[in-house]
This record gives sequence, structure tokens and C-alpha cells, in this order.
Amino acid sequence: MIRILALLLSLSLPARLAAADGGADEGPRIRVAIARGAPALKLKTSSRIYALDVKSGKKYLLLENASYDIKGSGDSVLVAGQQLSSPVKLLASEGQERIRLGKNLYKGDILLRAAPGDRLDIIEYLSLEDYLYGVLPVEMSPDWPLESLKAQAVASRTYALKYINPARDYDVTDGVEMQVYNGTSKVNARIIEAVTTTRGEVLKYKGKLVTTFFHACCGGHTASAKSAWGEDVIKPLYGVPDPFCSPSRHSRWSFYASSPDLLKFIQRLGSTALKIKSVRVYRKDRSGRAATFRFTTDKGVKDVPVTELRKYLGNYEFRSTYITGISSVKGGYQFGGRGWGHGVGMCQEGAKYMALKGRPYKKILHHYYPGASITDYD
Ligand SMILES: [Zn+2]
Repeated sequence: MIRILALLLSLSLPARLAAADGGADEGPRIRVAIARGAPALKLKTSSRIYALDVKSGKKYLLLENASYDIKGSGDSVLVAGQQLSSPVKLLASEGQERIRLGKNLYKGDILLRAAPGDRLDIIEYLSLEDYLYGVLPVEMSPDWPLESLKAQAVASRTYALKYINPARDYDVTDGVEMQVYNGTSKVNARIIEAVTTTRGEVLKYKGKLVTTFFHACCGGHTASAKSAWGEDVIKPLYGVPDPFCSPSRHSRWSFYASSPDLLKFIQRLGSTALKIKSVRVYRKDRSGRAATFRFTTDKGVKDVPVTELRKYLGNYEFRSTYITGISSVKGGYQFGGRGWGHGVGMCQEGAKYMALKGRPYKKILHHYYPGASITDYD
């Protein structure tokens, strides 16, 4: 069923592309891929939206709370079977209303763009500051103390800015591989204050933006980027002792893995073992995190990277590589550890407790990114 109601207007509208829409004082703009390289997808609306064929200036009305099949087709975008030239811009239907797709509210301009291979990208264009309103409440709880949210705002702003690259089709994605972003539905007064009071502030080291990694909880010492990913490391990412996150409930964890499960894991990595005799941490990095486990088996030893085991058992359950003990228990092994996440950069739990102790956000940032300076972008 064709859900586009009517061809409403064919007069030329001011069809400037969103990228050029930003006011001069808005600062950098960012392009967020809400969908990328999708073969076909359902566009769900929760308000009335116009789809604007930018080239012809024709506008089509999409109904509220409706679902539309959209797909790329060569240089065109098919919306409910209707062929429009790529790109198609989505416009709020009236006044101050913004675009609502599914459960999410988007403040920026949204483009549907044909991508190679009859695929489709949905890109939101918005100011970096508006983007932070969407990132902040997802990456850190909006109820946390203001100074920790301000520290997160500076870290998230810096991280996003590192990825702005006009040579690519978009700058960032909206998933966990970057910073999670679901539009700006969750913004509250505290988030607005955290973003606006740090407006434009970023972290630099020797004149360059720092890749401001952050994670849930370090467990007592942050990790160096080098030991986490083998990246060349600069001083702000060496890793620091962190006494602040110890009250956090995430500072310690334990995980039980059965012997058959562990056996399956090392067999996948080429071991011919039929029985595991022991498991221990074989090698640690300089921040004290485990780098390699040694499995002693009936067929000799098998050394495996801890990150591989973590991926296999689940990063959510096997919370970190900061291992404090492994004990043999009935039918398997009990792993004990500290912290949650990769451990590089700012420890969010630590930032929260620093803020609760009255530390201002600049102190928090200097603690987790030592040697970096807080400065305005460019
Ligand atoms: Zn910590």
C-alpha cells in the first residue's frame, strides 16, 4: 500500500543541503550515520514528516505513526515505491516540531542517500553541540553529578571531533563502536548545562586532539591504550592509578566458566586437548591487566589472549581483563576481576565519585588524561 499521501507541492523550495545550514556561531557540524549501507529498511515515523526531493523541490507527506519501505536504487531513493532523486531530505511538518523516527527525536537535518549497490544511508546533520545532547545521557547517566557530566561532555566532544572527516560519507555511527546516540529524546536540564557550560572545550596534547577513550569502571588503575590495543600511546593515555572508583559496585566482579566451555574455546583456537588441568594468568601488561592466559592441558600448554576469552564468554559478563584471581571450582573455574570495560582513558565511575567529593570537571579530566590541556577547538 502506498503510504505517501499526496504530491503536495512542486514549486522550488529553499532546498539547501543541511551541511550548509549551520549558523556561523554554531561551531563544527557532524554527520551521524543512523543507518548505513542498508539494503532496505522500514522508516517509522512518529510525527508528520515531509520528504523533500532536493533536486526537484517536490515535497511528499509521510503520515504520523506509519511505516514506510525505503531502499536505494541506483542514484535514487525509493520511498514506498515512489522514486525520488538522492538525496531526500526529511523535514518536520510544522513550526518548531522536529523529526521523530520510531522512538527517537532528531534535532538535526536528516538525509536519505543512495549508496553504492542499491543501498541506503540515513545521515543526520547537526551541530557537534547538539549531538552531545544526544550522546551524553546514553554514555553517562543523566542523574550523575554535574561535574562528572561536564567531564564526559568534554571527553565526548573531543572524541567525536577526532572523527570529523569531510572525505568520508559520514563522520560517526550511532552505535557502541563509536559513542551511542539515539537522537536527543533524553535530554534534560542537567545535560544541557553540562554541554553549554563546557561549550567548545576539548582536550589536546602537544597541540593535537587526544583520542579521549572512556569506560565504565577501571577497578583501581586505568589501562594504557598500548596494552589494550597495541596503539602508540601518548602520555594522557598511559594509564593512572585510580583510588576514586573503589566504592563503585562495578569495581569487582566474578564469573564462572565451566570446563567444557573453556575446552571448547581452546579447541576453537587449535588445541587438541581433551582435558584442562589448570588455568592461570601468564602475562600481564604494565597496568596490571592480564594479557595472556595459560591453559595447561593433557596435550601441553595453550596460551591465549585474554581479550579473546573475554569476547568468547561475553564482554558484558566477563567484565574486564583486570583479573585478580582464578580458582578451580567444581566443574570449572571461577574468575575474579576488577572494573568494567577496556579501562583506557576516563573511568566514569571514578569521575562520578570525584564529582561527589567536590572535584571540578577540569580536575577530573586532568586526573584521567594527565598532561592534556583543556582548550577551545582550533
Ligand atoms: Zn576507576
